[in-house]
Amino acid sequence: MAGKQEGGIIMNSKRRKERAAKGKAGMEKDIRAVVVLSGGQDSATCLALAVRKHGAERVAAITFRYGQRHALETKYAKGLARRFGVAEHKIVSLDFYGQLTTNALMSKTAKIVKKKGARCPNTVVEGRNAFFLLAAGVWAKSLGATDLYTGVSEADFSGYPDCREVFIRAQQKMMRLALDWPIKIVTPFIHMSKADEWALADRLGILDVIENETLTCYNGIPGKGCGKCPSCKLRNRGLAEYLSTSGRKPSARA
Ligand code: ZN
Repeated sequence: MAGKQEGGIIMNSKRRKERAAKGKAGMEKDIRAVVVLSGGQDSATCLALAVRKHGAERVAAITFRYGQRHALETKYAKGLARRFGVAEHKIVSLDFYGQLTTNALMSKTAKIVKKKGARCPNTVVEGRNAFFLLAAGVWAKSLGATDLYTGVSEADFSGYPDCREVFIRAQQKMMRLALDWPIKIVTPFIHMSKADEWALADRLGILDVIENETLTCYNGIPGKGCGKCPSCKLRNRGLAEYLSTSGRKPSARA
């Protein structure tokens, strides 16, 4: 669908080239928002919202490498940043993570499970959003941006403690004090179900992009994924619910 939405939030190759030429001409950047972009459904939809609100030329994206088992995530994040034509995309390495903790998402061999009665699956990366948001906030300040977008949700999530609104509020307060900068953490999906998130993607005209050009699966399989891991189950259940209530058909690419 590249190029079909000339005036929309998706950027075609002609607009990308024009943007690059302008950049080379030395136009000063005026970045307003930084998006934490993992390459998955939530962060991709977040990116689309930020681009719609601020314009691609005022949006920057940041992706973290922290020893996650699927390096493919970074590739998908890069593809999305290009697709939406954001002004800057930075990939930052948090290599130290593996020295502090381990979990099924960072281990090459551990099986992904959610034990009976456990709050969340063994994929939880302790403190991940706290590190990500602080690092992204430091970069945002250096760019002069105040809005920091993250796709966390406590409505339809895996039980991760740092996806809760109470955490986000505290993190924002901490970052304003730490950075002396009026950071605003924007969490459009904090109370949104996955089905509603799919509906939003459709309204934004990016259902096809989210279905096919994102990677959410814990087993590293893009698009629809393995269908078995907790992340795929959430994503696919939400999509099925949206498609059945809206009468939409899954995209031909899926
Ligand atoms: Zn999966």
